[in-house]
Amino acid sequence: MKEQNPQERINNFNEVALGYTPEQAILEAKRCLGCKNAGCIQGCPVEIDIPGFIAEIKKGSFDKAYQVLKEKNNLPAVCGRVCPQETQCEKACVLAKKGKPIAVGSLERFVADWAISHGVSERPEQKFKELERNTQYAIGNTKKIAIIGSGPAGLTAAADLAKTGYQVIIFESLHAVGGVLRYGIPEFRLPKEIVDTEVGYIEKLGVKMEVNAVIGRIKTIDQLRVEGFKAFFIATGAGLPYFLGIKGENLNGVYSANEFLTRVNLMNAYRFPDYDTPVNIGRKVAVIGAGNVALDSARVSRRLGAGEVTIVYRRSESEMPARFEEIKHAREEGIKFELLTSPIKIYGYENGWVRAMRCLRNRLAEPDASGRRRPVAIPDSEFDFDCDLVVVAVGQGPNPLLLSTIPELKLNKRGNIEADPEGRTSVPDIFAGGDIVTGAATVIEAMGMGKRAARAIDNYLTKLINC
Ligand SMILES: Cc1cc2nc3c(=O)[nH]c(=O)nc-3n(C[C@H](O)[C@H](O)[C@H](O)COP(=O)(O)OP(=O)(O)OC[C@H]3O[C@@H](n4cnc5c(N)ncnc54)[C@H](O)[C@@H]3O)c2cc1C
Ligand code: SF4
Repeated sequence: MKEQNPQERINNFNEVALGYTPEQAILEAKRCLGCKNAGCIQGCPVEIDIPGFIAEIKKGSFDKAYQVLKEKNNLPAVCGRVCPQETQCEKACVLAKKGKPIAVGSLERFVADWAISHGVSERPEQKFKELERNTQYAIGNTKKIAIIGSGPAGLTAAADLAKTGYQVIIFESLHAVGGVLRYGIPEFRLPKEIVDTEVGYIEKLGVKMEVNAVIGRIKTIDQLRVEGFKAFFIATGAGLPYFLGIKGENLNGVYSANEFLTRVNLMNAYRFPDYDTPVNIGRKVAVIGAGNVALDSARVSRRLGAGEVTIVYRRSESEMPARFEEIKHAREEGIKFELLTSPIKIYGYENGWVRAMRCLRNRLAEPDASGRRRPVAIPDSEFDFDCDLVVVAVGQGPNPLLLSTIPELKLNKRGNIEADPEGRTSVPDIFAGGDIVTGAATVIEAMGMGKRAARAIDNYLTKLINC
């Protein structure tokens, strides 16, 4: 797929990958074997009929391809851009064994973009087709369901429940919907316009969205029950940033990745000077961590004008959790990597601003509980690393604000909600899914949970009516 040149793209926030042309899409689709027992479907958490949509691309029927996609996936233009296909459908493709799986993600993106640009992405018959599959009870009933959190889990559950005929309201604490799709993933990987379009489709299904609505603060679940809501889906994500717990993390110029990316994405700092909300970017930026969040922070810093940006990571490249494609893009954009390195202290000037970081070198020992080789500090390997901005991207956990108001809801040791694979929790009318259950994971996993929970909520409400 064609990409924006690295030298150009470090000066703008436009998309890096430019998408397939129709000819490229058809050519790639023709490689698909249309397997009967398609591994690719099993590798997809939302069970898209992958051979089905690819078969339509082969024929040049992009409209039909889109309908097949949309049967299962409410956010195809998002997934085509950010899903880790290499570890899911593409990994399970039979052609992966021969070294070149079908580029399912690129094809999905092509079809979704084609539908948007040809105005077929929000056609009402799509909705009616889905409605034919409804349960007999849900159609036309007015049972109200509250979805808390508007990330991919919440949006997916909301769309599926609306298609089933329920009255669905999403409550979102921020002033805009989309969750991480909006405030975390930067414009050059996922344009806001794409999020707007796919959220627009969900609104057209009848889902209402209330923003600036922090549930647990403005209203409790109990109050929502009194207002007539019959079931709840908690999809509040993993919004609480973790820190390293080292000295100096409270200095000026140390950000959590969450705050840094929110300022850039949600507060429009990436559109300076059109928006006067600039982020004070450093000359030398250190980003601690090597997941997608860290790589995004590093690449955003580069685009905001940092002279030098370095990823500081305690293990080696093969243990990095970020997508391979993002690591490759970061390298092309001149991001440096200080591997097998752990920060142990951050130094500041007298005025309270960051000056440098003290680090230790590591070697790798045997694998730990995560299956990755454990970093062990090498004695006397301390060194100082100059930097004037530090972004800490070492993971996120559950925000306890809402959970503390539902003491009857069972949580695990890490503070995540305990839920079965269908999203059922210890409270019969409360379901949960996405990062709030799994811990920080992926968009498609969150969507898969949203889908399964929607089915479970429908079953629960159907039984309630029968009793
Ligand atoms: C920077 C970044 C880059 C990423 N890149 C990728 C990627 O390339 N590919 C990939 O697959 N995954 C990626 N991920 C992970 C992925 O985005 C998450 O796994 C996914 O968004 C989780 O979805 P969710 O619906 O559970 O929660 P979220 O997307 O976190 O949404 C939760 C929403 O709930 C709202 N909320 C929280 N508390 C309340 C409350 N009390 N009341 C009302 N609303 C509330 C929040 O404001 C938020 O909007 C990335 C994550 C980050 C942070
Ligand atoms: S496994 Fe690969 S080749 Fe077979 S249907 Fe799926 S995408 Fe096509």
